[in-house]
Amino acid sequence: MSKLSTLVLLAALLLLPGLSRAQLFPVDTLMKNGPLNNRVNIVFVGDGYEASDMPQYLNDVQAASTRLFSESPLRQYQQYFNLFAIKVPSAESGTSHPHTALDCYTSPLAPRVANTYFRSAFDYDSIHRQINIAGVTELGSVLAASFPSYTVAVVLVNTGEYGGSGGEIPNVVTITANSYSTEVLVHELGHTFANLADEYWAGIIYAREYPNMTELARQPGGVVRWQSWLGTNGVGIYPYAEAPAWYHPHQNCKMGQLYAPFCSVCTEALIESIHGAVRPVDSFSPGSTTLPNPTQNQQFSLRLLPPTPNTLRVKWQLDGAPLAGNVAQVTVPSARLATGTHTIEAEVIDSTVLSHSITHRTLHRYVYRWDVGQTPNGTTISAREAEYVIKTYPNPVADVLTVAYTLPQPGDVRMTVVDAAGRRLHTLTRGRQAAGSYRYELRTADLNLRPGGVYTLVLDIDGRPFSQQLVKQ
Ligand SMILES: [Zn+2]
Ligand SMILES: [Zn+2]
Repeated sequence: MSKLSTLVLLAALLLLPGLSRAQLFPVDTLMKNGPLNNRVNIVFVGDGYEASDMPQYLNDVQAASTRLFSESPLRQYQQYFNLFAIKVPSAESGTSHPHTALDCYTSPLAPRVANTYFRSAFDYDSIHRQINIAGVTELGSVLAASFPSYTVAVVLVNTGEYGGSGGEIPNVVTITANSYSTEVLVHELGHTFANLADEYWAGIIYAREYPNMTELARQPGGVVRWQSWLGTNGVGIYPYAEAPAWYHPHQNCKMGQLYAPFCSVCTEALIESIHGAVRPVDSFSPGSTTLPNPTQNQQFSLRLLPPTPNTLRVKWQLDGAPLAGNVAQVTVPSARLATGTHTIEAEVIDSTVLSHSITHRTLHRYVYRWDVGQTPNGTTISAREAEYVIKTYPNPVADVLTVAYTLPQPGDVRMTVVDAAGRRLHTLTRGRQAAGSYRYELRTADLNLRPGGVYTLVLDIDGRPFSQQLVKQ
């Protein structure tokens, strides 16, 4: 969110009678890798830390985040995250323990009611280690006032006792200041941020299709959701022992047991979610401009956001011919641009081998384009991120699929439907189309889509593929 809209939101909060006491708490920046609108912003909020406990709070946040970013693939993509800590003092240290769970006898914690800001307590759902907060409204107000642009909020409760919870409040995870709880944080982030299922059996009410959970061991056509990983790094098709109609991809994944690493399927889902939230390019230069008397060589550059190790691949072209590869900047001689019209293009993809996603190289492909021309005032450069807006709906699709897209310039268009194994089922050639908006309705029977199947629609525009995932009802 921009500074201006934050101010507008603050003003609105202050004008609302019920929220007139919305209070601003100090926010410490623990890790700032880039702008809020192009990073995953993890925001900690403490509960049960008195004002004098704040140094301890910051230590506890630091310990949790160090553990978080030691885990693959968060380790490789740490640059894609920012980390903040809101300092909210509580009246009392610690947390409440109502002693109402069936398994409270397993804990040395005595019954207690603590006066803390967000009213955290153990024993939710009659399970001792289930720690959560009653002050959901207060948490919403604090986040809205102090840090509205959070991606994931972590409520950190000041107790050394193991506990945690997640999923009840969207994008909020609750943990304690206990090293085992930090494992819970990493696991919960898999749920909250990457839409992953538990790979232990959590109960039939949680059973549905997820990147790492499926009822259809074999999709129509004989493939599974995580087909591309089968037989690699221990990935298979494993039934849940308690419910053998449902399957998960690994027998030792962090979504199944703490202290295990994320399996390859879950790692891929996390990376795809990170790319869904963050572009690997922070900015490009120059912007659109006119060079009155271009005698200098002209530089074109991208501010790249490399993972560690750097798996970004950059392809530069001048008028369609290769110019350079895997560099953030190119220099074009002024003489080359002084007459006629020219196009400089930079294409960026993350070539990580940790994602096999069919849609990755098309969905997470970024193209920057500078059109150079001559006017009486000099050489003009028109710069933009090439945007091709593509929509398919509804999803899941029943009988008719609508495909809509906008071409920013004329292009050759071809549509292909591929199954989960990447096999082409159907190709529609549209030929050369003028710039503008297009919309087609396709019958799923004509496309050979089978019920329950997962497919990808690839729209190829001038040899550049864009894709959307489809699920057939
Ligand atoms: Zn208890
Ligand atoms: Zn997994």
